[in-house]
Amino acid sequence: MQKHNFSAGPCILPQSVLQKSAEAVLNFNNSNLSLIEISHRSKDFVEVMENARNLALEHLGLLNKGYQALYLQGGASLQFLMVAYNLLEKKAAYLNTGTWSNNAIKEAKLIGEVVEVATSKNENFNFIPKNYTVPSDADYFHCTSNNTIFGTQMQVFPDTEIPMVCDMSSDIFSRQLDFSKFDLIYAGAQKNMGPSGTTLVVVKENILEKVSRNIPSMLNYKVHINKESMFNTPSVFAVYVSMLTLQWLKDLGGIPKIEKANTTKAQLLYNEIDRNSLFEGFVPNKEDRSKMNATFNLKNETLKATFDEQLKQAGINGLNGHRSVGGYRASMYNALPLESVQILVDVMQHLEKQA
Ligand SMILES: *Cc1c(COP(=O)(O)O)cnc(C)c1O
Repeated sequence: MQKHNFSAGPCILPQSVLQKSAEAVLNFNNSNLSLIEISHRSKDFVEVMENARNLALEHLGLLNKGYQALYLQGGASLQFLMVAYNLLEKKAAYLNTGTWSNNAIKEAKLIGEVVEVATSKNENFNFIPKNYTVPSDADYFHCTSNNTIFGTQMQVFPDTEIPMVCDMSSDIFSRQLDFSKFDLIYAGAQKNMGPSGTTLVVVKENILEKVSRNIPSMLNYKVHINKESMFNTPSVFAVYVSMLTLQWLKDLGGIPKIEKANTTKAQLLYNEIDRNSLFEGFVPNKEDRSKMNATFNLKNETLKATFDEQLKQAGINGLNGHRSVGGYRASMYNALPLESVQILVDVMQHLEKQA
């Protein structure tokens, strides 16, 4: 049976990418060797890493603009600490828009002082704070572009005099932004670009080497830059699949093309959430709603068992909300086809007719 995969992460990847990855595990580049049993220093894999790094910068429009792309391990969660280790001398400013921002703040506090410029905590993170000021004497400003768990997404980013750092784990390569506004972007691969096991870091080189502390090698961006993301054995499979996904996106027409498709998908679902008398969106303010993760609830919980059964019958996977929020969450990442969203909408309409 065909599945419609709305999983929040790890998440859906293009079928053609999965196919090629499977082939490479058995026979990489007609070498009769597996991608995962050859040296990461072999010519073929060095090429993969170079391609993956270049494609990331190219998609973001940051090629030859003083930025470096790295594929590191430890997930986005290690970046919470690594950002602070490399950039925080005394004080950093954070926008708190949910669980992941919160975790980032917690790690930064191990290194220095953290100023929370604004938070949406009092409304259970169902909106994006606006009209906050970023202190100009902080070492950097950190924000989370898309809040995977709560289903909110930043539309406007502040103009800051200080470096801007952004956790884009769940919406990188999904929409056009002026990426040159950001000095450091990081993203765990498993939300929109590949399997888990690698994290993309895009960093402007001139913000580094400003802190006075000694940074352990594995946590030091400069060390990874100097070794072209091969300081130690990289996660070869995850980097390869990420490269294929970025190539798939390029062949498709890049971020401008995928953004249109993502907008269409999100509109289709949010229109139904708003129209259907049985459902309500978790995020009241429409402009704060995420195009990647749509969160919503059944108004009448007694319909839950029926709805869940009908989702299952339709082949819909991964629609449960995060355990901290409950309800439903439809993650509509780049590789999710419009048809899958249509199937979900059909099930919602069917439920309403029956009720
Ligand atoms: C999933 C997620 C993380 C955590 O990523 P890991 O790679 O599991 O550490 C961090 N930030 C955001 C926005 C996420 O969606």
